[in-house]
Amino acid sequence: MSKETVERTNRQMKDFVSTRLNPLLESGYYATITDSKVDSLEKKKIRNSFLLFRSSSKGAAVEGVDIDYLSLDEYDRVGAAAELSAIESMSSSQFKMLRRWSTPTVPDYGIHALFEQSDQRVYMHKCDHCGYRQQMDYEKNIECVDESGVDLLAKTVKDGTFRFICKKCGKALDRWYNGEWVAKFPDRTINNQGTRGYLVTQLDAVWINL
Ligand SMILES: [Zn+2]
Repeated sequence: MSKETVERTNRQMKDFVSTRLNPLLESGYYATITDSKVDSLEKKKIRNSFLLFRSSSKGAAVEGVDIDYLSLDEYDRVGAAAELSAIESMSSSQFKMLRRWSTPTVPDYGIHALFEQSDQRVYMHKCDHCGYRQQMDYEKNIECVDESGVDLLAKTVKDGTFRFICKKCGKALDRWYNGEWVAKFPDRTINNQGTRGYLVTQLDAVWINL
């Protein structure tokens, strides 16, 4: 990888820590369990554990560090050497917890290939009105309640233009409280074997409104 790429991904990682994570760790509950003496963009201490951040563009970024839990973000852009090296850092751990996250980029590659081999969990929302359980669908779970709310030229949508509905009874669907993960292939992860896969779409993301 070029020097420029390494510098860019390193900067992205530090920007992520300073703008997304630090505001959470510096206030409220997390501030009470985070050690302010151990504070950098690469290392945090929460209670008696350390949280380390590394850019995956350098293959040996976590070499020499013993870890119990590894989280690889933007997995489709993580190189094979970096992944192997990071997994190697868990070799002496009794936990060896591995989580890989990504927006899928290419079919049958990276996170999509892993998901295909996994038990393929999807989030099933339960309707408060009729009890029907359903996976969200762009065609069937969205209703336009005000045609004038869409301005195609300005490319804007007024709040309240669309609402989520149950695909069976058509009444309003509350996405917040009544869901559960359901595996398409539960046999694949029996007795803690195999890989659990979780599909999260923007329709499941309650913080994104219509
Ligand atoms: Zn319903």
